[in-house]
Amino acid sequence: MAWNFAAGPARLPDAVLAQAGALFRRSDDGACTIERPFSGPRFRAVLANARQRLAELLDLPSNYRILFMAGGAMQQFALLPMNLARAGQAVAYADSGYWSRRARQEAGWSGPLIEAARHPGATALTAPVAGKWALPADCAYCHITPNETADGIAYPALPDTGAVPLVADCTSALLLAPLAVEKFGLIYASAQKNIGPAGLCVVIVREDLLERSPVALPAVFSYRQQAEAGSCVNTPPMLALEMAALVFEWIAGQGGLPAMAAANQKKAALLYGAIDGSRGFYQAPVEAVHRSPVNVRFQLAADALTERFIEQAAAAGLQHLRGHPQVGGLRASLYNAMPLAGVAALVDFMADFARRHG
Ligand SMILES: *Cc1c(COP(=O)(O)O)cnc(C)c1O
Repeated sequence: MAWNFAAGPARLPDAVLAQAGALFRRSDDGACTIERPFSGPRFRAVLANARQRLAELLDLPSNYRILFMAGGAMQQFALLPMNLARAGQAVAYADSGYWSRRARQEAGWSGPLIEAARHPGATALTAPVAGKWALPADCAYCHITPNETADGIAYPALPDTGAVPLVADCTSALLLAPLAVEKFGLIYASAQKNIGPAGLCVVIVREDLLERSPVALPAVFSYRQQAEAGSCVNTPPMLALEMAALVFEWIAGQGGLPAMAAANQKKAALLYGAIDGSRGFYQAPVEAVHRSPVNVRFQLAADALTERFIEQAAAAGLQHLRGHPQVGGLRASLYNAMPLAGVAALVDFMADFARRHG
């Protein structure tokens, strides 16, 4: 038995992989879904089903729209200011770690960048304090990364940005637990962490913000035009969408987002508990209340053992535990599709490794 702890592309639910083969079976019309016109009724039904299921999982307020767009989260880094800011209008970004910085970088061409909240620095591994953030009223939006996949840092609470719409990169956070969608102007998540295969990005946007997309924006880049076209301005990532729909169904079948939250808490508690209970052999450097529930960052007190740990873990079937290259150390990603048994196997291995090397 091997377990894949990669941060993304990540493990998909067993049940979804088992069903996925059927997506390639042709039916009476001599085609499977990905061989059919994307504008035809059969694919439109797939799309409508995916949208409906996601809306149900999120208990989506009626003034929000779901867009299924091609590409990843980084495309959205660029599309956000194109759609939501006027030429030269300020946009605010909070720095919580690696991905929030990449997002800010990709928006830098658009106009003045406002530092919404500072990362407290490498020694204090936390997200910015999520209080009331003072932002200029004419700021187009304020961007946060609620879960920093590379740094293993999560916001324990959302900031209050007043009238400035809160925009969130939820790539490694969407569908892990119930979410108060109404607190956001826009949420986006590329699929390959917790939703499905790469190539698809989910964008959930408050309807009134669609009016901001400039008329001159090319159609595929325009949130407004994508919304008007039901995410079919051009051919959407059909296979990724079909698989995402299976993932949404699987989550619903497990008891929805409350059940995901309970399972994720249990897994995180098991792993962080093993780290904290190792008498310093393993260390979780992120401050306790800011620890990511799904990207568990840890390290060995004896750094020289890190390579041996990764090697022996892989030999024991525990794969992809190396930390993000910008961060180092170790990381285990425990999204929805990682069962408790996988985490238990990791924890057992860690105890054994500590006994042999402690
Ligand atoms: C993985 C990740 C990205 C990058 O996603 P792509 O789909 O590769 O563009 C961006 N933000 C966060 C938080 C991520 O975890």
